[in-house]
Amino acid sequence: TLKELALVQLAANDIAKARQTLTDSIALFEQTQNPYMMLNTHLILADIESTDGRPEQAIQAIDTAISYVTGESMQQQRLSALSLKAKVLAEANMFEQAYQVLLETKQLERTIREKKNEIEFQRLQTEYEVEKQKVANSLLLTKNQQQQVELDAKSRSRTLWIITASLSAILCALMIIMVVTNRRHQKHLEKLANYDPLTGLMSRRFTLENLEKLLALSRRHNDVVSIAIVDLDHFKKINDVYGHACGDAVLREFGERAMNSFRESDLIGRIGGEEFAVILPHTTTEDADYVLNRLRIAVNIELDTVVTVSAGITNLTGDPTLNYKCADLALYEAKAAGRDSVCLFLDTEVSEIA
Ligand code: GH3
Ligand code: MG
Ligand code: MG
Repeated sequence: TLKELALVQLAANDIAKARQTLTDSIALFEQTQNPYMMLNTHLILADIESTDGRPEQAIQAIDTAISYVTGESMQQQRLSALSLKAKVLAEANMFEQAYQVLLETKQLERTIREKKNEIEFQRLQTEYEVEKQKVANSLLLTKNQQQQVELDAKSRSRTLWIITASLSAILCALMIIMVVTNRRHQKHLEKLANYDPLTGLMSRRFTLENLEKLLALSRRHNDVVSIAIVDLDHFKKINDVYGHACGDAVLREFGERAMNSFRESDLIGRIGGEEFAVILPHTTTEDADYVLNRLRIAVNIELDTVVTVSAGITNLTGDPTLNYKCADLALYEAKAAGRDSVCLFLDTEVSEIA
């Protein structure tokens, strides 16, 4: 460029040419309106004038250069211009002015430095604020993550609780079902053990159990109790003639009739195939004879004519073996008497036989 050319010419001590080149440059740059270019060019011109021993022109060029300084951004250029001016003034032995300019230079230098410091401070402050915000953000993020983790843990523990509660409820329900089923099963087993499935009457074992209890009770109250064995006559023949199923039906029907014949306090159980025991608390053998005959007649009338029953009655004593023997003897007597009859055999009669 022209400016560089002027600098080369200045270096070659061709001052007149350099000045001409710079004057051309200034005329050219004036159209571009670039203050930096103008300022620099005038400073080079000042340098040339100073070298040429023309301090007034040099200072004038410097002042022109300074007039191009606009705004904060050009303070560094102003500083260069002022330094140059102080130097030129000193070379021209104008020490008073040189000192003044130097003072101005120092002042400007300080201002620039302060400005720089302030900018740096603001930059640092901004940086600090940004960093602070970053830290705060990351803290917030961490807190959020922590909260999320806590929420997750809570929801997990709630799910676990629900599962545990559900399982416990299911377990409880299962246990209740098991207990109920077990109790029902127990009752069913008891019923199977205590009652005869065909007739619904008490089983042999349950009848004997009840007889023992009644024995103790009657002894305590000094009560009279009669017992009887009832046996279906020629039952084998019924099975043979009408079939086993018919025999079963007869047994069932007899059971129902018998239950209807006695009081609720009386006990009746099936102790053998077609053999039944009747226990009549608070009943004398005479009354028992009456009741058993009533049953005998009822069976005879209500069932087929071929079905008859015989019964042996005795009084209850403290000796179960004797009781059974007496009742059996009475039944034997009834059978021997032609069946369809009721006989009595008391414990006192045993010694008579003996
Ligand atoms: P008696 O008059 O001397 O008592 O003669 P009986 O034929 O009744 O006596 P026996 O003891 O000879 O025969 C009893 C019969 O009862 C034999 C048996 O097959 C029958 N029996 C026993 N239990 C049942 C049963 O549950 N169902 C049926 N259908 N028959 C039975
Ligand atoms: Mg019989
Ligand atoms: Mg029999």
